Amino acid sequence: MTKLFNDPATFSDDMLVGFLDAFSPWVVGVPGGCIRAQAPAAGKVAVIVGGGSGHYPAFCGVVGPGYADGAVVGNVFTSPSATECYSVASAAHVGGGVLIMAGNYAGDVLNFDEARDRLRSEGIAAETLYITDDVASAGPDAIEQRRGIAGDCVVFKCASAAAEAGYNLDEVVRVAAKANTVTRSMGLGLDGCTLPGAPDALFHVPDGKMGVGLGIHGEPGISEEPLPSAREVADLLVDRCLAEAPATHSGRIAVILNGLGATKYEELFVVWGQVAKRLRDAGYTIVDPDVGELVTSLDMAGLSLTIAWLDDELEQFWRAPANTPAYRKGGIDLAGNRREVQATHTASSAVSKGSTAAQELANKAVEALDAIARTMRAHERELADLDTVAGDGDHGRGMVKGSTFALEAAQAARDHGAGIGGVMAAAGDAFGSRAGGTSGALWGAGLTAFGQVFDDQADSFDPSLAVTAIRAMRDAIQYRGGASLGDKTMLDALSPFVDALTAALPDKGLVTAWTDAATIATQAAESTAALRPKRGRARPLAERSLGHADPGATSMALALTAIASISTD
Ligand code: ADP
Ligand code: MG
Repeated sequence: MTKLFNDPATFSDDMLVGFLDAFSPWVVGVPGGCIRAQAPAAGKVAVIVGGGSGHYPAFCGVVGPGYADGAVVGNVFTSPSATECYSVASAAHVGGGVLIMAGNYAGDVLNFDEARDRLRSEGIAAETLYITDDVASAGPDAIEQRRGIAGDCVVFKCASAAAEAGYNLDEVVRVAAKANTVTRSMGLGLDGCTLPGAPDALFHVPDGKMGVGLGIHGEPGISEEPLPSAREVADLLVDRCLAEAPATHSGRIAVILNGLGATKYEELFVVWGQVAKRLRDAGYTIVDPDVGELVTSLDMAGLSLTIAWLDDELEQFWRAPANTPAYRKGGIDLAGNRREVQATHTASSAVSKGSTAAQELANKAVEALDAIARTMRAHERELADLDTVAGDGDHGRGMVKGSTFALEAAQAARDHGAGIGGVMAAAGDAFGSRAGGTSGALWGAGLTAFGQVFDDQADSFDPSLAVTAIRAMRDAIQYRGGASLGDKTMLDALSPFVDALTAALPDKGLVTAWTDAATIATQAAESTAALRPKRGRARPLAERSLGHADPGATSMALALTAIASISTD
């Protein structure tokens, strides 16, 4: 949703007022848009970019030294008029002629060509060039009909740098045309955008689907397909762009992974990991990649990949410094004296082998951790919902992550011959370091303390050690977290469990005692609904939490119950 506006009708004007104020060292307003605050050297070709607004940082965000001389700013998703384009171009002109560039859209072509003709009629040398990078918008046999999307930026940047380097108008046009010829983009829409004041998005992409071949004016994708993993999304984008690789090329490419507005940088980086790998596997050298928002479509969700096959000249211009409100490059040299940092370590510490009895128990521990991980996955939603009441909603995910990594680490230690002590130490480490959150740290400490009770060299183990271990787990959680019984935490399920198990074990077998104690833990977790949280994130929202069980107590009871279900002796 676009939610903040004064009057939808003046949205782009109001936007421009704030933009010009915030970036006054770079830009000044002129009728129809803005130009550089500092006049460039006389005789330099003026590069004008533009189109409707709603695409920031395109187009006004890239006005400044090394990049555009001026930007024409239309209403949201609406081509500026010929008069506006003419106004910006003549204000930016310093005697070297004008190149006006935009994405290939009928409205922009009509208006910008008319502005060009008006400039020419006044004796100002003027050219227009429209970018056609979007492979989804027409086939390879009709490239001139393709739309311009994020590939605009490669063409704008290279042409602007050529103008900055003193090229004359013909040469700047040649560079722009060459850049356009070697630039291809492919995009995906994940949800539509909302025009200011509109009651709903222009379109929606159903959950679990993607619109393949997005437009940047809220045009839905050209076909709708099931949304695969980020890796497969990356593969699709790479495949579609590489399918149009020129017959001969240098192997050096400029690459842009562009977010449409509502797709987060983190998501883009997830996709980029695979994009970069695929391109390098294909033998390419990636030159100065951009991963972020370069051409947006208001709050549209989605992304596009742009690849430009560079020759020496284009590479020089692509890499040249620029200093604009939204795009800055160069200045501080990042080459040389590079730190050699070891790849992130994942190796677990050396495992010492346990006795046969300790290895047998290690197998049981792995089984128990497996049961916990499975139950956390099955209840992830429920735990998340409980944590949403007065917390931050991450408890389900945290427990799934923690228990899954704990299981993996435990299996690896077991496979290396560790006894139960070593296996639980590995599980505790992994849980604590990978789950995150309060509960992750406390579970990590608890599992580690559980393992410390066992001597991996012992020949046999008394079943009562299970009670000692679970008590050690309770104590560690209490010590680390500082909570007391009744504070509405995981302890309110674990403590009654420990007490019940301790009381029952002399008379009942471990399995029966554990099962009965798990029932008590489940009831105790449910009863936390009546409590007010005195610890953790939920405390400030204590009233809201009343009537809802504590998430940490609930997951604790689920874990203890899951273990009961696998016990056989
Ligand atoms: P975070 O609160 O950091 O988001 P989680 O959502 O994963 O962590 O876990 C929340 C749970 O952690 C709570 O429901 C509660 O059971 C438990 N918890 C919070 N603080 C403490 C504490 N000091 N001692 C014991 N358990 C705690
Ligand atoms: Mg939480």
